[in-house]
Amino acid sequence: MRVLVVGSGGREHALAWAIAASPLVDQVYCAPGNAGIAEDAECVPIAVGDTAGLIAFCHKAAIDFVVVGPEAPLVAGLVDALESAGIATFGPSAAAAALEGSKGFLKDLCARENIPTAAYRRFRDAAAAKAYIAAQGVPIVVKADGLAAGKGVVVAMTLREAEDAIAVMFEGGFGAAGAEVVIEEFLAGREISFFALCDGETAIPLATAQDHKRVFDHDEGPNTGGMGAYSPTPFVTPEVHDQIMSRIILPTVAGMKKRGMPFRGILYAGVMVTVQGPKLFEYNVRFGDPECQVLMLRMMSDIVPAFLASCDGELKHFDLRWFPDPALTVVMAAKGYPGDYAKGTRIEGLDDAAKIEGVEIFHAGTVAKDGAILANGGRVLNVCAMGKTVLEAQQRAYAAVDRINWPDGFCRRDIAWQAVEQEK
Ligand code: AMP
Repeated sequence: MRVLVVGSGGREHALAWAIAASPLVDQVYCAPGNAGIAEDAECVPIAVGDTAGLIAFCHKAAIDFVVVGPEAPLVAGLVDALESAGIATFGPSAAAAALEGSKGFLKDLCARENIPTAAYRRFRDAAAAKAYIAAQGVPIVVKADGLAAGKGVVVAMTLREAEDAIAVMFEGGFGAAGAEVVIEEFLAGREISFFALCDGETAIPLATAQDHKRVFDHDEGPNTGGMGAYSPTPFVTPEVHDQIMSRIILPTVAGMKKRGMPFRGILYAGVMVTVQGPKLFEYNVRFGDPECQVLMLRMMSDIVPAFLASCDGELKHFDLRWFPDPALTVVMAAKGYPGDYAKGTRIEGLDDAAKIEGVEIFHAGTVAKDGAILANGGRVLNVCAMGKTVLEAQQRAYAAVDRINWPDGFCRRDIAWQAVEQEK
């Protein structure tokens, strides 16, 4: 098979790496890819938003199967366009991607299907939204309805913060994504990521993972796309796992099928484990980044037949197997991220770092220039490791980080601290 991966981050590097390992696959391409992905796939300079360019490339290169990484092209309908052009593609249709593309759609679905989630109201008008916030009090959560590159959620601890968020959203701070706003109850608890592979009817849970959203150690500083992750997490007990499957994932898959928009692809639930049990606070319609990286490391089964079965509605008799050893990833980011940061700074020592036992380095934002690797984004590298314990994986990953010479980068030093504590 000839497979095309769409995207350019660490998630897509991990996907390309796992797909390249499949005996079914002769050649992997990635559009547009990055300097690390180029080691596992042939990168082609086509942007993820260039639907016509991607279709033309698939025809020219006789691509058999496409795997789409990021949410924006999914929500924009890339899967529909590729399938209409006769190209088999892994991922949800635009209609099904509304689970991530519209918070209001998701909340209404939860209400209709009795899926546990935060209480909410939808607003198209700032005055009504502010009156609701005043009546509810804080803390409260304000969300732009549409995709806002992970920045459209404000967890407001004061009335002022909530009102400012409303003002920014309705004044167009998030473009069309903020034309409608969801205001919801603040959920207190432990946040976990839960992934299921779906084929429109059947959902198979993947291994569990936890990511670290805040930029600094001890969960301080602003939210980011994710500064590190590990798998499995001890905080998804078998009981919580069953509750998430039976109360959240399966009713969602059934509800989407009933509405004529069957969900195929990766359903990634953001779940708060509260004193009342697990509650859904968001869906993503693709793998998390960096959770995908640790899941791909732990996946023992060939990923390609699993993706094909999702596409073909054949997951019912499918089984996925995982290596028992934990995996962990540390994100190395450019100094200043998630605010302004410099591009083009030089990274050295990657080969030396990758020699440590159990270590695998995925690239999230790099370019190769004149034989050197340069940073080309906010999140730049995913330094991953496996170990017999989370602690061993953590020690290996940080030993690798310490071999990387990149004065303009930084990382958190405490990834998986809760799980390491638990192991003691
Ligand atoms: P998102 O951009 O949807 O991933 O949300 C960003 C972060 O906001 C999540 O990772 C949660 O930590 C937090 N969040 C979202 N909804 C709620 C909620 N209802 N209660 C508490 N925290 C929330």
